[in-house]
Amino acid sequence: MTYDPENIFAKILRGEIPCDKVHEDDTTLAFKDINPQAPTHVLVIPKGAYESMDDFSANASDTEIAGFFRAVGKVARDQGAVDAGYRILANTGVDAHQEVPHFHIHIFAGRDLGGMIKRA
Ligand code: 5GP
Repeated sequence: MTYDPENIFAKILRGEIPCDKVHEDDTTLAFKDINPQAPTHVLVIPKGAYESMDDFSANASDTEIAGFFRAVGKVARDQGAVDAGYRILANTGVDAHQEVPHFHIHIFAGRDLGGMIKRA
């Protein structure tokens, strides 16, 4: 699959549409989800053009991967989510209902997040 440069997160990275930014560094951007599913719901995305966790883990550089995952942890700390706990989630592909084809990790916190996954 080819990366679609017109996906919504690519437009956010180019500054073509706004976001409620909570973190930015050389490799990574984090911003609040437009349709929050928990009191804290932040999306963390690499600045590089990777469509999914599969693409990112296979093709990103060590610097991008280290920077990205350090940023995920920092954002959770900055959001005050560590003491009560939080969940990270990366929907990947059709069965996971990935909607935006730019790799992203969701951070959810601020309430009891319930069980891990919908039962079959
Ligand atoms: P996915 O299902 O791909 O894992 O999740 C995509 C997420 O992106 C959804 O939670 C959705 O609410 C969020 N989202 C979609 N469009 C926008 C947008 O324009 N701005 C922000 N901040 N979030 C968005």
